[in-house]
Amino acid sequence: MNCEVVAVGTELLLGQIVDTNSAWIGEQLALAGIDSHFQTKVGDNLDRIMSVLRSALDRSDAVIVCGGLGPTQDDITRDALAAVMGVELRRDPALVEVIAEVFASRGRRMPDNNLAQADVPEGATVIEQRRGTAPGLICPVAAGKVVYAVPGVPYEMTEMMERAVLPDLRHRAGASSVILSRTLRTWGESESGLAERLADRIAQLDERGNPTLAFLASGMEGIKVRLTAKGPDEASCREVLGHEELVVRELLGSSSSAATTRPWRSPSAPCWTPTG
Ligand code: ATP
Repeated sequence: MNCEVVAVGTELLLGQIVDTNSAWIGEQLALAGIDSHFQTKVGDNLDRIMSVLRSALDRSDAVIVCGGLGPTQDDITRDALAAVMGVELRRDPALVEVIAEVFASRGRRMPDNNLAQADVPEGATVIEQRRGTAPGLICPVAAGKVVYAVPGVPYEMTEMMERAVLPDLRHRAGASSVILSRTLRTWGESESGLAERLADRIAQLDERGNPTLAFLASGMEGIKVRLTAKGPDEASCREVLGHEELVVRELLGSSSSAATTRPWRSPSAPCWTPTG
């Protein structure tokens, strides 16, 4: 199972908003042990959103699209989803009532525009909104793939992700897995120098795919070598990391130093995530 993220909003492309949603979702996917290889930002344009969704669905099993579920003209994620699914949008009367109630409870009149938030692509499941007015969507597409649509507002998005999207993704992924990283600090060697010394080992690991090795230039803290393992449980990841740490220390000799493994436990799943 792999899942990629699409953030919708022209303001993201113009640099008016920083795409913190994708960063947060990426972290949650790692916590859930779900591979995620791409994140894309796209403006509020129907053809371009459809094109990004199609590319994402070509290469990934699941896609999380955030933003563009609001009530205004430029909120067109629902339309793009219906078009990609090849179905019509249908207004859900139960959702109309829910949205009307949200306005009534705030003592405000519901503008007609908000009715668009009750439009659901045929075959999609609604994720009930609890913090705003925009419901989320779980949209099945061909070949068992799925697109989740969640609001752009971070406070609404995180709640919906934790309550509905991540549990559904974990369920689809079947056996749960764990991703754990260990960071070795090095001093006195350039990044290219380290890469040269570790070149053969990196080639072997690339071929094997697990664990992976990456360099992180960290200014005053020297250059870090981050090892990341994926496995069925924490113990197996620790075993893989322990072995790899020995190999890397041997190759780097006196330039490598303290190792840190700082796993974070997810509140909703017994998974682990990379450290910095
Ligand atoms: P809603 O209907 O709940 O208003 P929406 O799905 O229409 O949400 P957008 O209109 O795309 O969401 O964005 C609403 C606001 O949410 C933006 O103005 C911005 O403040 C924030 N936001 C949107 N996308 C992101 C993002 N990728 N990262 C961080 N903040 C975002």
